[in-house]
Amino acid sequence: MIYIVGHKNPDTDSIVSCLVWQNYKRKIGLKNVLAVRIGELNRETEFVLRFFRVKNLKEIKKVNKKDSLILLDHNLYQQAVEGAKEAEIIEVLDHHYLGDFQTEKPIYYRSEPVGSTSTIIAEIFKERKFKPSRKEAGLLLAGIISDTLNFTSPTTTETDKKIAKWLNKFAKLDIKKLAEKMFSAKSDISGLSFKEIVSKDYKEFNFKNKKLAIAVWETVKTDSFFGKEKEIFSALKELKEKNHLDLIFFALVDILKKNAYLYCLTEKEKEIAKKAFLGKEIKNNIFLLEGIVSRKKQMVPKIAAKLER
Ligand code: MN
Ligand code: MN
Repeated sequence: MIYIVGHKNPDTDSIVSCLVWQNYKRKIGLKNVLAVRIGELNRETEFVLRFFRVKNLKEIKKVNKKDSLILLDHNLYQQAVEGAKEAEIIEVLDHHYLGDFQTEKPIYYRSEPVGSTSTIIAEIFKERKFKPSRKEAGLLLAGIISDTLNFTSPTTTETDKKIAKWLNKFAKLDIKKLAEKMFSAKSDISGLSFKEIVSKDYKEFNFKNKKLAIAVWETVKTDSFFGKEKEIFSALKELKEKNHLDLIFFALVDILKKNAYLYCLTEKEKEIAKKAFLGKEIKNNIFLLEGIVSRKKQMVPKIAAKLER
């Protein structure tokens, strides 16, 4: 079996790109491919699958030597399915920084600094003169909207805008309305604990022999987080201990104001945050980062640059 799989703690881009890439592979004659996920969907992605009437992907816990993998929307083993190092990786489509990735055989690897993996898939379709179905085009559009915060994140490129226009010839969607619905679903925290919230869009990185994590929560309703500092920091402390991290950050991203509140657990995180962002400390251990919304483009590089061996 060839598994098409996105990263841990999957987001909309990860899920829809796996789905659409599976359809494409099957249409061109590759029958033994299966789009799968590792971990639970977030509420935005749940909404997107309901909206387009698509069944959820099968969840897998790990893979082994006999499995082949197509990795979408990631390339770091830390973010990949358990066992990925033993399995054979045959293809990667991604838009993140390159990690310490190595293979024994030549593979198809396509990485572009664009807003989403969905963008890359749509580009491939266009290049190969493959017409997406209305549903496939809609799903890819949702992936682009999600990752680029509806074309407002600094990760957005001209390619994303152009390809979205092309996709919408097939999808025929009111993009603004869809984005609003997605962001409102994304912002719904009813029934969730802060432990679940900080674990949801959680990614680990290794730089200069340091293991760090940056958890992100994008929302149009930051109000629900004010006054909950104690709960948030205790959730971060727990995660830091459980995952043996040197540093942990939580960025609460305000999608509308294009700001982030950066929660720094200890003095160590604070020191890095001060150097990296020159932000204002608005409350104990919480910095306001103006104009910062993207983990991959704005947070990871700035934090990594300030780490010391
Ligand atoms: Mn992703
Ligand atoms: Mn992505």
